[in-house]
Amino acid sequence: MSERIAVVTGASRGIGKAIALTLAAEGCKVVVNYNGSRERAEAVVSEIEAAGGTAVAMGCDVSDFKAAEIFFKTVVDQYGRIDILVNNAGITRDGLLMKMSEEDFDRVININLKGAFNCIRHVSRQMLKQREGRIVNISSVSGVMGNAGQANYCASKAGVIGLTKSAARELASRGITVNAVAPGFIDTEMTQVLSEKVKEQACAQIPFGRFGRTADVAEAVAFLASKRAGYITGQVLCVDGGMAM
Ligand code: NAP
Repeated sequence: MSERIAVVTGASRGIGKAIALTLAAEGCKVVVNYNGSRERAEAVVSEIEAAGGTAVAMGCDVSDFKAAEIFFKTVVDQYGRIDILVNNAGITRDGLLMKMSEEDFDRVININLKGAFNCIRHVSRQMLKQREGRIVNISSVSGVMGNAGQANYCASKAGVIGLTKSAARELASRGITVNAVAPGFIDTEMTQVLSEKVKEQACAQIPFGRFGRTADVAEAVAFLASKRAGYITGQVLCVDGGMAM
């Protein structure tokens, strides 16, 4: 993937960080996007550079349509092209449906689903010009199976799957693939807040009997972002230790 330009949203930590490190190790120049965590994004850039790669940290709230437009214009002005977009930025605001606030529902949809739309919307013009591109959206097995206490999150992640398939159909004729990766339980700050009891219950549903690592997700993303995956589009690849099969 030498010299390819990759944008990874929400890459200041967790799964996004692992994706940024993996793509950089494979030769991509990586734009490490963040929203609030500038120092952590810069630490990811330093880690990539220390390993001999190239990266830059660039802030943008992906849920902001106009800000996303400016963000992608800046990337194109700086690098001349965008080969890979990984829509990874995401949040949870869990709670039972009956008690969920409108604000918590809207915030999760706005970042997880509308954020992915905003980025695809603004990157697709450039990729159409190039007649080439790879888009990988991070969904979740929760979007496939549903999960009590996560109606907003599951709706957003199921929406990402619909978005993926529609974009895949629209963009295929121009050489652009769009796929989704649906992680199961992965050990990150997002899941570290779960109680031991919830973690035990989760492990009982996973044939592997344990949470996955961020690198497990990053490897799947790197494959779908590579030239090796040129005839794969509109797919949802679960990286979940067998949980959703
Ligand atoms: P995480 O550790 O909480 O990291 C979330 C990342 O998203 C951070 O880099 C954060 O950056 C960024 N982000 C949040 N809001 C943003 C916004 N408005 N604009 C731009 N960036 C924003 O989460 P994670 O566990 O690595 O999850 C990454 C993705 O995988 C998410 O889409 C998540 O839903 C999905 N996923 C995770 C799991 C899991 O078990 N961990 C399972 C299935 C799917 P700032 O700190 O700078 O805001």
